[in-house]
Amino acid sequence: MNRRSIMTRPLFTLRLKLTLLYLAVFGVLLGGLSIILVTIREQYIIEDFDQRLIGRAMSMLYAISLVENRTPATFPAVDGAGGRIPFRFPGYFFQLRSADGTTIERSENMGQRTLPWTATAQASRTAGAAQLETVHRDLAVALTGEGGELRLLTLYHAPTNRPPFFLQIAVSTTPMRQSIAQLRSLFLGAIPTGLLIAGAASWLLARRALAPIGQIARQARELTAAHLDRRLALPPGRDEVAEMIVTINQMLDRLEAAFRAQERFVADAAHELKTPAAVLLGQAQVLASQPRSLHEYQNFLISVQEEMRRINQMVISLLTLARADAGLPMETVSPVSVHDVVTDVIQRSQPHADQRGVRLLPTLAMPGPDGQEPTVCGDSELLRSMILNLVQNAVRHSPPGEIVEIAVSLRGSEVQVCVGDRGPGIPAQHLDQIFGRFFRVPGSDEGGTGLGLAIARAVARMHGGDIEVRNRPGPGCEFTARLPVGKTQPEPKSL
Ligand code: ADP
Repeated sequence: MNRRSIMTRPLFTLRLKLTLLYLAVFGVLLGGLSIILVTIREQYIIEDFDQRLIGRAMSMLYAISLVENRTPATFPAVDGAGGRIPFRFPGYFFQLRSADGTTIERSENMGQRTLPWTATAQASRTAGAAQLETVHRDLAVALTGEGGELRLLTLYHAPTNRPPFFLQIAVSTTPMRQSIAQLRSLFLGAIPTGLLIAGAASWLLARRALAPIGQIARQARELTAAHLDRRLALPPGRDEVAEMIVTINQMLDRLEAAFRAQERFVADAAHELKTPAAVLLGQAQVLASQPRSLHEYQNFLISVQEEMRRINQMVISLLTLARADAGLPMETVSPVSVHDVVTDVIQRSQPHADQRGVRLLPTLAMPGPDGQEPTVCGDSELLRSMILNLVQNAVRHSPPGEIVEIAVSLRGSEVQVCVGDRGPGIPAQHLDQIFGRFFRVPGSDEGGTGLGLAIARAVARMHGGDIEVRNRPGPGCEFTARLPVGKTQPEPKSL
């Protein structure tokens, strides 16, 4: 089963989620906006309706004043249709009442019916303004012949040359209600249509926005260990997707570099382990080809011992490096006295130094103001092997009769262990490579593994420090290990 078949397409794809999100936001906005617009528009329709009613009332008052001027008399009380006032607004019902509420005159279209004489209507006298109310469902049915309600306006008028009277005008609210219903159905129809269009547009937009991600996924699937040199194609323009691709490509650069280093490391390790095995095999074959003396067998065993020691040392070194590479924590962490470690290293290196006629010259740091010697928090065994590596290298490369200086000093929050010799130094072109794994200066036939300095630097970095090298002005070179002083475990540096 391949990876693609394991990763079945989810039901809620990112595209669907984005579309639903756009749609939800758009729906809420559209709904909210529609409610506001419909409310405003409804208000306008109602106000406009009332304004027209007031307009009719004003026209009526004007018409009445004309009649009054011609026949300056009180309105005779009428008890039937057809008065002297020209009521000519179809659909509108008019009525005049005297100050005591008695019907004086009414429009023909009202027949024998009268408009309601409510408390609100009567209040127009005291209010001094037109009173509007919605009344009489039954009356509306009777007057208009259809359902609905009546909007009734009552206006108290007190002319100077005539007794005061009430003017009442009523009109069916059905046209207004119809306008409002039409408006609502328009919006109710527009919302789903808008949502449908927005949904389709969001779906297409989401596809467009997510297309580069699909492309990245396709390209990423083709990246395997065999094609680690491939990179994701950069789209035109400098948007977020381009930024992400640049970041992924940079990550691939680092992964490729780490992978290649690992490959080289494994190949070099295999080669280095193969050599002693091949030497021993060759010697064993020669030895077995004919009967040998005891002395020859003893020599073979010595060489087996020597090669085994080398293999053992290399395996320990490789394990240390692998541990550092994997970022595993140190096995034992405790405050370590740098003086104790350096003193121990000198003791161990003394026989080798004596053998080569080299003198070891230690200089230890004075105790600090608190009377404490420099202490590093870490693994004492690893720290010992780090300094031992530097001292043994210095002894190995020193001509007989020369000295190797080992100085411990305190610099602020750092303790420095400096190992200097008067040997040939490091050729300038190899100074950068000297800490590389399996690197040996060409021509140096010391029989080392080329791992000593790589491990020493890895140990220093595991302890939050580092190692540097420089050639001295005179003969020789100087390795300086810098470690943070403290009783708490330092943050390791990346290798
Ligand atoms: P090895 O175990 O082979 O010595 P190292 O990593 O310790 O490997 O050293 C790498 C190379 O650096 C060696 O080939 C050696 O020639 C060179 N080197 C290390 N220390 C010194 C020194 N003090 N003086 C001159 N060359 C040195």
